[in-house]
Amino acid sequence: MALKTGEQYLRSLESLNISAHILGRPTGELAGHGLVQPSRQAVAFTYDAAHDPATRDLFRVVSPLCQEEVNRFTHLHLSSQDLVNKVKMQRHCGASTGCCFQRCVGMDAANAVYSTTFDCDQKHGTSYHARFRDYWAWVQRQDLVVDGAMTDPKGDRGKRPKDQVDPDLFLRVKERRPGGVVISGAKLHQTGMLNSHEILVMPTMAMRPGEEAWAICCAVPVNAPGVRYIYGRQASDTRKLEADTLDVGNPVFGGQEVMTVFEDVFVPDERVFLDGEVEFSGTLVERFASYHRQSYGGCKVGVGDVLIGATALMARMNGVDKASHIREKIIEMNHLNETLYACGLACSHEGRPTAAGNYLVDLLLANVCKLNVTRLPYEIARLATDVAGGLLGTLPSAADLANPETSPYLLKYLAAQPDYQVLDRVKVLRLIENLTAGAGAVGYLIESMHGAGPPAAQRIMIERQAGMEAKVQKVKGLLSIA
Ligand SMILES: Cc1cc2nc3c(=O)[nH]c(=O)nc-3n(C[C@H](O)[C@H](O)[C@H](O)COP(=O)(O)OP(=O)(O)OC[C@H]3O[C@@H](n4cnc5c(N)ncnc54)[C@H](O)[C@@H]3O)c2cc1C
Repeated sequence: MALKTGEQYLRSLESLNISAHILGRPTGELAGHGLVQPSRQAVAFTYDAAHDPATRDLFRVVSPLCQEEVNRFTHLHLSSQDLVNKVKMQRHCGASTGCCFQRCVGMDAANAVYSTTFDCDQKHGTSYHARFRDYWAWVQRQDLVVDGAMTDPKGDRGKRPKDQVDPDLFLRVKERRPGGVVISGAKLHQTGMLNSHEILVMPTMAMRPGEEAWAICCAVPVNAPGVRYIYGRQASDTRKLEADTLDVGNPVFGGQEVMTVFEDVFVPDERVFLDGEVEFSGTLVERFASYHRQSYGGCKVGVGDVLIGATALMARMNGVDKASHIREKIIEMNHLNETLYACGLACSHEGRPTAAGNYLVDLLLANVCKLNVTRLPYEIARLATDVAGGLLGTLPSAADLANPETSPYLLKYLAAQPDYQVLDRVKVLRLIENLTAGAGAVGYLIESMHGAGPPAAQRIMIERQAGMEAKVQKVKGLLSIA
């Protein structure tokens, strides 16, 4: 099967016939929906990039699993260079779309499931790994998008799954039938779900003995009976439905998150990759989270490139680009953005092979990367807001620019540095608004905070991985303390 183009990918989604509730209405025609289309275009970019002569070498890789050339977004990393190339690919996608392009979660989930199923089989004599290999070889050959579904609703955060008032607040195996299991529950915040072909379900946290029903990892097609979708809102999202899309900010691309409900969904045995393996649920979560924390050292840096570029252009348009404090601020934005990239590259370079053979990032450095991602994009956004000026929050609408009664005033009073048109200045302001306070801020800021887990989760991992005892011993040795 040849690698799909963006167009072939978009056509492949149509045959899935999925529908969703969007803004309170059931919607069958997702392809043409104004809220969905930009997010599909962003995923389509990941397909087209594998055909673009400038990037095809970065996006294509031969997979030993299926013996074919595959898109790197479906690849199982086989070296630390593969991990580095993943981050470079993600930065390119972020910088080219200016948004979350949604295809990373499935890639990160697959790499985690691959090594975890291997380890589980080694210890417990199970046969999950061969199943997963067969499944993933099929995904690679078909060049599919797979949603990585980890986050459960979790109900009362102070209680374990079995102590919740409703056991479905953590997705679980509700029933066993000949040939498979029936799952029930929900996954929240699912990135790119309606642009996916498959869902790879994982437990949301380390389970304990007695919580076997919630220790389930399996795959279901997006159009499996019983799966329901409710579309997530983003700030200013309905601007995408307006006739003139000038106020959207990012005219072509966008992100997507979807609440996904599993109402008694049957999963055949061949798609079950961990069932009741409480001991390995924590391993899976830890590995997935670490790959995904590495990812943000690429994708968010790419989106940061767009925000920095827009801010520098805004400064030129306002005639302040030569001012020393503005140049300092843009230097600082670059410094922060490249710090994130350095973290993404560092945890990749230090990657090591798992027992299964695929490479895992350095856990400590991946968590440092993500903890920085929970902070630095907010500072970059703050500096962009400073440089852009107050119009970022007060600019009249595209409709006012088009209205002959108000347009002359806008053209007169929004003029700044004379080399630039007012319309172009408005475009740049709207793009900065999109990324700092609009729909794009979901991907650039809120996802930077919570995606792959909130800051406390990274701190726990840093404490675990920091090798404190070795550091204490070094000091004792240095000072001859027994
Ligand atoms: C834009 C976006 C995209 C996402 N995409 C995906 C995706 O594709 N797939 C996916 O599976 N998930 C996805 N997520 C989910 C993401 O992983 C979660 O949002 C994250 O793990 C935090 O979980 P939560 O939202 O339930 O917040 P909570 O867990 O409620 O966290 C809120 C706060 O409470 C604290 N807290 C939570 N529980 C406890 C506790 N027991 N004790 C003390 N403090 C606690 C946290 O540290 C945090 O400060 C996405 C999230 C966002 C925002």
